[in-house]
Amino acid sequence: MQLLRAAQPRALVSSASFDHCRSKKRVSLLPTKLEPAAEDRACRSAHAAEEAEEERCWVCLEGEEGGPLVQLCACRGTNAWAHKHCVDEWRRTSPREDAAYRCGTCKDHYRDALSLELLGARLQAERANGESTILTLSTLATELKGQGKYDEAEPLYREALGATRATLGNRHPDTLSSVNNLGMLLKAKGDLDAAERLCREALEGRRATLGNRHPGTLESINNLGVLLQAKGDLKAARRMLREANGCG
Ligand SMILES: [Zn+2]
Ligand SMILES: [Zn+2]
Repeated sequence: MQLLRAAQPRALVSSASFDHCRSKKRVSLLPTKLEPAAEDRACRSAHAAEEAEEERCWVCLEGEEGGPLVQLCACRGTNAWAHKHCVDEWRRTSPREDAAYRCGTCKDHYRDALSLELLGARLQAERANGESTILTLSTLATELKGQGKYDEAEPLYREALGATRATLGNRHPDTLSSVNNLGMLLKAKGDLDAAERLCREALEGRRATLGNRHPGTLESINNLGVLLQAKGDLKAARRMLREANGCG
């Protein structure tokens, strides 16, 4: 996600902020004789002044003199604005595992070429060093899927699944997540029969190891329900979706 600062500045101030502004500032800032519309305008302009003061890059703390300010994630307030080059540099150098591909505060994925570049380089380094690649394989595959690159995601999901089966066993939560991930990718690619086999395996494993009401199990029930719906088995789909919603 990327928004230019000038694109729609007012739309970025939520109505919740105005409500907050009204209730807090009415007494202290505004003359009591103002009509409601004028009061709103005054309040909005006071709020806009505050917003303008806050429009600084959260990385270097400079304003637009350092380049255009953009919004790269869903953060608001003092973390809303940044120079893209500052955030890119931070993503390249941060020790955080997720800095390469998402904001650590709001968890919004950047979904861009740099995510793929940084995760690809990490995977290459892990392979070269003989380290475990399972997490990076899965993260990179999810990024590729999120960017619509299904064919590139599939071999990585398959490799992650093979590695989790070999090292953790078929019933480990990470293995079942890998089974689910590959199943959902194959569904997105239109291979519904293969997707169903994997979704059923993930669901059976999660029922057996996590119980019927665990969030992971409910996710699997929902996934299988949506898949059966796509396959036209509406009766079975309805049964699964009812169970996922706690009506089973
Ligand atoms: Zn900056
Ligand atoms: Zn954020």
